[in-house]
Amino acid sequence: MSLRKMDVLVVGAGFSGLYLLHKLRSSGFSVAVVEKADQLGGTWHWNRYPGARCDIPSLQYSYQFDEELQQDWKWSEKYSAQPEILEYLNHVADRFDLRRDIEFNTEVISATFNEERCLWEIKTSKGDVEAKFCIMATGCLSAPNTPDFEGLNDYEGQLLHTGKWPQTPVDFTGETVAIIGTGSSSIQSIPVIAEQAKHLYVFQRTANYSIPSNNGPMDPDEEALVKSRYPEFRKENWENGFGIAGLEEESLATEASDQERQEKFNHHWEKEGLGFLGAYADLMLDKEANELAASFVRGKVKEIVNDPEVAELLSPKFTIGCKRLCVDTGYFEAFNRDNVTLIDLNTNPIDKITDDGLIAGQEEYQVDSLILATGFDAMTGAMTRIDIKGRKGISLKEQWKDGAKSYLGLGISNFPNLFTVTGPGSPSVLSNMVPSLELHVEWISQCIEWMRDNNKTVIESTKAVEEEWMIFVNEVADQTVYKSCNSWYNGSNIDEKAKEFLPFIGVPPYTEKITEVAEQNYQGFVFDKTN
Ligand code: NAP
Repeated sequence: MSLRKMDVLVVGAGFSGLYLLHKLRSSGFSVAVVEKADQLGGTWHWNRYPGARCDIPSLQYSYQFDEELQQDWKWSEKYSAQPEILEYLNHVADRFDLRRDIEFNTEVISATFNEERCLWEIKTSKGDVEAKFCIMATGCLSAPNTPDFEGLNDYEGQLLHTGKWPQTPVDFTGETVAIIGTGSSSIQSIPVIAEQAKHLYVFQRTANYSIPSNNGPMDPDEEALVKSRYPEFRKENWENGFGIAGLEEESLATEASDQERQEKFNHHWEKEGLGFLGAYADLMLDKEANELAASFVRGKVKEIVNDPEVAELLSPKFTIGCKRLCVDTGYFEAFNRDNVTLIDLNTNPIDKITDDGLIAGQEEYQVDSLILATGFDAMTGAMTRIDIKGRKGISLKEQWKDGAKSYLGLGISNFPNLFTVTGPGSPSVLSNMVPSLELHVEWISQCIEWMRDNNKTVIESTKAVEEEWMIFVNEVADQTVYKSCNSWYNGSNIDEKAKEFLPFIGVPPYTEKITEVAEQNYQGFVFDKTN
């Protein structure tokens, strides 16, 4: 392929990349999207494991940039399943004629900023690109984590990772299956796999909190009500701390009577899914309040799971919500089935993977399929796995070795004209991702337009502002219980990663901050810096 030149190259054709393409093209820029997969969808292309669905209601987990689109599209369920979300994204691509500017099967191998020419030189698996701007729309949970289990390469059965699931459906009927990990992906897939498999072994290192989704067909009255005032509904949600409806509660768990608390927790358990954490305003701020919610959920686990020993093993011991809360359909119930066995990796660590299964706690498990539900190198992995070099050949991976610093999750010092969508230091994974990424797409597009209108060529963040910002991100987190356990929010799931809290907590102050920065001609960013 010959060298291609353009204003903007976008990496990734998921929710962010598609909207960026639409927005930037509408503003008159030449833009293309490169996508490693053979089709669009990002997260919703790769995560096709059984039971995959969103855990924020679809009426909220969807684009709002086009009123006709949000009126026209009909979700069939409260929380839509992966195939429907993918269908929606394909509809968006067709509706806005996006496909002609997306290059599929194209992996970015390296991206280097040429300081003299003020542009990005990007090598892809299908040829070279030169672009004034490069935007990483690579997702927060898109670089799968494959632990280095001894013997993994020797396994001759069907090896699967939830975050890289095959496109053809996998049928486990009659199979003996092992799944390692008990995070959201596993918690969604276990009940479905258990219905198919002859036997399912679940290998758990840390028990997780999960709230029933109470998913079901879309309620036509609720849909009509939301659609009758969609912009207002979106705006109200955005004013909540996490940008999600139902999280605006102001009363405190520590001040409620036992009976009031029980009633409220029960209501939120039955109706709110992730919004369970919104039952009281102090659940994520005060350890004592948090423990009240945590012990309520542990009580529910003990009510649901018949075998008291299994129930105890499934009862999480850490602060609720400090690892991403899970939402399920029949997760704890699945452990009442005769064909599901829970193995505690703390007392039975995995010794090794063999050619036909695994050995844990000296017990051998022969399995037809081995599923790694072991998560992602979150928030930074998708970028550090690409060879990105900024000013003076500085590598992003090297610069982020001791902690990922970014100004507002949008720009990185030494990496001019490189923007990140929902990067570290922004609410991203601690918010409803779709409106969060729309906010970033609009901010970035307006910034690039402003530069065009004001004859600016190069924009970059400085070390000082991003350091100050990431200190603030961590100071905000220090006022909460979010740092009280190992989680992918703070890099603890990846051995070699710096242990630093990455998302910013608080949608409203963040939105105010980035709006102000833009209004003050991108205060904190430097334009056309000379060396
Ligand atoms: P995850 O939450 O990081 O869970 C990974 C699981 O694998 C954990 O139970 C972890 O145990 C275990 N694990 C990792 N390395 C291991 C090792 N070496 N040995 C044994 N166990 C190991 O990953 P995920 O379930 O894929 O979910 C990631 C995030 O994606 C979620 O938190 C959520 O934000 C998002 N997600 C969303 C949805 C949805 O919207 N519905 C669905 C799926 C995922 P430890 O806890 O002990 O580390």
